[in-house]
Amino acid sequence: MLDDLSSQLTDKITDPGLLPGRGDFAGEGRLAVRDPATGELVAQVAISDATGARDAVDAAQQAFWQWSAMLPQHRAQILHRWHAMILEAKEDLARIMVAEQGKPISEARGEIDYAASFVTFYAEEALRPNIEGVTSHLPDAEMELWREPVGVAALVTPWNFPCAMITRKAAAALGAGCTVVIHPSAETPLSALALSELARRAGFPEGVVNTVIGDAATIVGEWTRDARVRALSFTGSTEVGRLLYRQSADTVKRLVMELGGHAPFIVFKGADIDRAVTEAVKAKFATSGQDCLGANRFYIHRPIYDEFCAKFTAAVEKLTLGNGMQDPDIGPLIHDRQIDKQNTHVQDALSKGAKLLCGGGVDEEKGPLFFKPTVLADVTDEAAIMSEETFGPVAALSVFDDEEEVFARANATEYGLVAYVHSLDPRRIYRATRALQYGMVAVNRTKVTGAPIPFGGMKQSGIGREGARQGLEAFTEIKYVCRDWG
Ligand code: NAD
Repeated sequence: MLDDLSSQLTDKITDPGLLPGRGDFAGEGRLAVRDPATGELVAQVAISDATGARDAVDAAQQAFWQWSAMLPQHRAQILHRWHAMILEAKEDLARIMVAEQGKPISEARGEIDYAASFVTFYAEEALRPNIEGVTSHLPDAEMELWREPVGVAALVTPWNFPCAMITRKAAAALGAGCTVVIHPSAETPLSALALSELARRAGFPEGVVNTVIGDAATIVGEWTRDARVRALSFTGSTEVGRLLYRQSADTVKRLVMELGGHAPFIVFKGADIDRAVTEAVKAKFATSGQDCLGANRFYIHRPIYDEFCAKFTAAVEKLTLGNGMQDPDIGPLIHDRQIDKQNTHVQDALSKGAKLLCGGGVDEEKGPLFFKPTVLADVTDEAAIMSEETFGPVAALSVFDDEEEVFARANATEYGLVAYVHSLDPRRIYRATRALQYGMVAVNRTKVTGAPIPFGGMKQSGIGREGARQGLEAFTEIKYVCRDWG
């Protein structure tokens, strides 16, 4: 199927001989996609400019009336077909993802399942009632609330989950009856192109799904200015989120913002330490540490601090580092800015009193983007790693003495995406889940995500939720209808 998918992409390209790609409304410019594990050129993608971005909105606006008026059952059928095709192409999509993103192949396969789950979830959600009655407060009047699609939705996605971040948004928007313009990250356009090719094969009418690749500020800037774009759903850094929030103000768009995180991982005395260690390794090193849910700060209760540090370091030392195709535990980081950030955070923490327990730099033998899994202990709150998103395989451990202290330290951040707590004391768990100002709290486990749950953060980790019924909210609005039969 990879050949099939690749040749379908080839049909649309101008640079034969490379695994190719072409965004919708593409022009003459080219974007080089490189394998982060080897530095090799994987593909050159034909890209769009501001005109292409506008053309995409024209197409989406034109298709909106037909798509939104279609019976929800029919929209659901097309979504179900897309879901089936994504799963059929799972291996191809996973390999494309590893080639451009670098993550271990088993994680890439897992991401395809996760990505597909949103499509089937919102195919089902599309069938739920979209009209609600209201008990009338006026004589002779009958009242209803209709949920209607907002119109064209712009979806802007990051490179760390190149498929799931697209389907989490697109399936909800499409299920609700919106048409979409999608801008993926410059690092991972091929996954987006493959998903959009499968959408075409699944039978979405022309203009319903438009993938536009090019300079982010140009493409997305065009969309934030365009009053026809009624919703903007963004996943990425808080910094870019703030910019797009401001840019969207002039046209008062509906917004979903899934932004950065800085998760605390708290282990209390009396917790199952071995389990906490296993979960801590997952919480830190999944997606090679490049995960918005990645634990950035580990707060360990003093009586168990030494034991946790020793067991955690032993577990981290066993992690394998390598090319994603060989399915190691950790792959390369996406680009050298990520490597610089790891080095800066490590050096800064060490200069402020931290101890290096393992790792600490690039594995030169593997290549320039392979950062060794790293553990720092006795990290002080003044270290940058305790307040800035690291987004890489560096774990910072710190000791605490009591609940009040650890809740205050965990909440002392602009972020509020996810917090992890390990304890076997139900009252302590209750106090922790109450006190932590996070959109998601995971107790004695790491995996929390899935299509049926409302994913999202508090404070500057975002606005709105994705997944679940709540994921439809930004793509729909309520029309109140009051009919007088008098
Ligand atoms: P990023 O903010 O640099 O880029 C995200 C998207 O925004 C990309 O498509 C990029 O092309 C676009 N973009 C960048 N600059 C832009 C500009 N000036 N104008 C318009 N668009 C612009 O983020 P990233 O490096 O791709 O991803 C990592 C970040 O994403 C981390 O902060 C991570 O926490 C966050 N993230 C959050 C979630 C979540 O669900 N909360 C999920 C994954 C990643």
